[in-house]
Amino acid sequence: MKACVLYAAKDLRIEERPLQEPGVGMVRLKMGGVGICGSDLHYYHIGRVGNAIVKEPMVLGHEIIGIVDEPGEGVKGLEPGQKVIINPTDECGTCEYCKSGRQNLCRSLRYYGSAARIPHVQGVMMEYPVVQARQCVPVSDAMPLDTGACIEPLAIALHALSRAGNVLGKTVFISGAGPVGCLIAAVAHLNGAAKVIISDLERFPLTIAEKLGADVTVSAAGSDAAAFSGLCDVCFEASGSRGGMNACLQNVCPGGTVVHVGFQLEEEVLYPVNTMVIRKEVTVKGSLRAYQEFALAARLVESGRLDISALVTATFPISKAEEAILTASDKTRSMKVVIMAD
Ligand SMILES: [Zn+2]
Ligand SMILES: [Zn+2]
Repeated sequence: MKACVLYAAKDLRIEERPLQEPGVGMVRLKMGGVGICGSDLHYYHIGRVGNAIVKEPMVLGHEIIGIVDEPGEGVKGLEPGQKVIINPTDECGTCEYCKSGRQNLCRSLRYYGSAARIPHVQGVMMEYPVVQARQCVPVSDAMPLDTGACIEPLAIALHALSRAGNVLGKTVFISGAGPVGCLIAAVAHLNGAAKVIISDLERFPLTIAEKLGADVTVSAAGSDAAAFSGLCDVCFEASGSRGGMNACLQNVCPGGTVVHVGFQLEEEVLYPVNTMVIRKEVTVKGSLRAYQEFALAARLVESGRLDISALVTATFPISKAEEAILTASDKTRSMKVVIMAD
């Protein structure tokens, strides 16, 4: 079977690997679709995501829909042929966070396709990945394989919204119209936000955000965003840039909330504590990955209550994974790019 293995920045190899047997409690999947995430792009281009640096060969990918190929011993309720979404958060299940329903904060959590630990946690961008059965969320046969690969970022967006609290009737601002920013726009709209404003440096992603539910799109390059200064109840930072962060702090109203979803490229950024946090009494929150939102994300899409199909702008066979990554890197024409079996 083919696997997309990153050796170092810009050194991606499609390798032939033997099929793995699923162990106890594990399941072997046939690849359906694997979405290329911003973290995969960072690993490919610069060999790191923040302080997680690629030091040994690592299979990329964590946004996957697959089809059960072979369940291992002791696996119940997953038969061959069943379509499943994978929650890439492999948690310990026993710590205080896992027991209190905040598995995304588990201290010994392993995340697929992540160089944060040594040895690295291998990803799922391969034809037959083996995953834990408990990470599988069954979905209906009708779930398209390209859209299905977007359930993971949708769960991230739902988690960010849950961190923000109730948005009913509120003005929401999102900086960064990448897949997660666009999906936050979609779920804020679904949850009754009065106005959803989203900004990005590029025009193309804003056109997708409009299709997904944004009411107002603004260029982050110009002065348009200044029109919302101090007027937004909830601001989501989903760009990972200092400019995006500053726009959120500027636009949040007194007493409002800022949720950080996008990892900042720099480990430390200047935060205008006096003017933006204390004087406005702003609540600043972090939002990390997702957990219980996976099943909800799958149900919202399956039931047709949320149409996220506009997110996928291209699909590529796994043998063309590098071309797929380069395409996904071009923000002037790509949103979510999905890799599929050959
Ligand atoms: Zn992702
Ligand atoms: Zn735990």
